[in-house]
Amino acid sequence: MQLRSTKSGSPLVSYREAVLNCLPEDGGLYVPDQAVDFRQFFTHMNEKTSFQELVAAAATSFLDDSLDPVSASRVAKNAFNFEPELIKLDDEFSLLNLYSGPTGVFKDFGIAFMSAILEEFLEKEKQIMILSAARPDTGVSMSRAFSGKKGILLVLLYPSGQIHGLDPSAYVPNGGNIIPVQLKGTFDDCQRLVIETINDREFSKRYNVTSCNSINAGRLFPQIFYYLYAFIQAKRFLCGDLLFSVPSGNFGNLIAGLYAWKFGMPVNGFIAAMNANNSMGGYIHGKPFVCAPLVHTNSPALDVSFPLNHERLASFYDEAPTVMRNMVYPASIDNELTLKTMEFVYKKYNLFIDPHTAVAFAAAQKIHSINEWNGNTHTVVLATGHPERSANIVEEATGKKIRVSNFIASLQKKCDPIAVIFPQLDAFENAIASCF
Ligand SMILES: *Cc1c(COP(=O)(O)O)cnc(C)c1O
Repeated sequence: MQLRSTKSGSPLVSYREAVLNCLPEDGGLYVPDQAVDFRQFFTHMNEKTSFQELVAAAATSFLDDSLDPVSASRVAKNAFNFEPELIKLDDEFSLLNLYSGPTGVFKDFGIAFMSAILEEFLEKEKQIMILSAARPDTGVSMSRAFSGKKGILLVLLYPSGQIHGLDPSAYVPNGGNIIPVQLKGTFDDCQRLVIETINDREFSKRYNVTSCNSINAGRLFPQIFYYLYAFIQAKRFLCGDLLFSVPSGNFGNLIAGLYAWKFGMPVNGFIAAMNANNSMGGYIHGKPFVCAPLVHTNSPALDVSFPLNHERLASFYDEAPTVMRNMVYPASIDNELTLKTMEFVYKKYNLFIDPHTAVAFAAAQKIHSINEWNGNTHTVVLATGHPERSANIVEEATGKKIRVSNFIASLQKKCDPIAVIFPQLDAFENAIASCF
């Protein structure tokens, strides 16, 4: 499979090229140029198929120009010593547990695959610099995946507040490969500055820059695998319509689901579950995209006012607007209902869920109450965060004390940056350059 830009200007590239140089020069984002056919997997695979087996087979079939079957198996094995788990709650709902990775968030899946594939793609003597906009609590996912990896430098740009879970001995000035930089501003500012820096082509060339945010196809595409896995697990009990409910901030996760569908996964729709930051809702309903001001909520990973994958979603709507109107259902959930839903799920199923998962669960309940989906519909709710990562909110919602395991507590230790900057390109580039 080759990739093209969402803007038409750039030539087609291989997956390898799109991973190493993640933004086309025309200002678009890379998307698959042709559909791949995954349908064979749904007949041949069943609930005994391991996630590693599925990843190796699916990666071979759609990254055929960049990965042979032997390397694909190696990547699958190196990336995933954890797997998703589908938990059937009742006839209406399942949870897809995506927080079994090393840092307890679904982002571990995309990042682990990207880290393993870089080991295949990087030429021995070459060094690559990965720029990443991080939230104070998600930088740790990237740092754990890339820390100590030969040939890789990781720059984490995070907004005002303290980043968690890094190991200062892994910072570049201390002989490691990580450069944390704090920006006086918001997460959206960080995302903008990362893109601006990659688009400074001179700087990008000098340091061989790419990103591990979901703008990089190398991080986004592997998220397709857990949708396929969930479907293969669920097909034995499905008898009516199937929906996936996806807590959406930058919309990478939802887009990965749409690719799974485009590549042949039989699904009736996706719920774009948002909190009060719901500017994509109007767009999905057919209105022009208007970027609303950021609102801080109790599901902070969904607090994005300008979703990075907006262009990729738009490319689906440009191609087939009427099909898409019947494929994606937006819903916006407020703080209060988020808490109530955490309590509901605890009382009804005896399970703790994190607030992001609760947004998706509440959105699924909302859509199920609409006539069209009332009856024979099963929704797989994506559980994107480990409840212990949000212990305070879980306790507030359920009234229950939860024990935070050591591995989660170790992700929450606060750390210092190597520099604090204003949101300006030269300040960021100087902070990076000063490390060498
Ligand atoms: C990042 C994140 C999301 C949002 O995913 P997108 O792909 O950005 O839409 C949802 N839940 C959790 C826990 C996250 O960390």
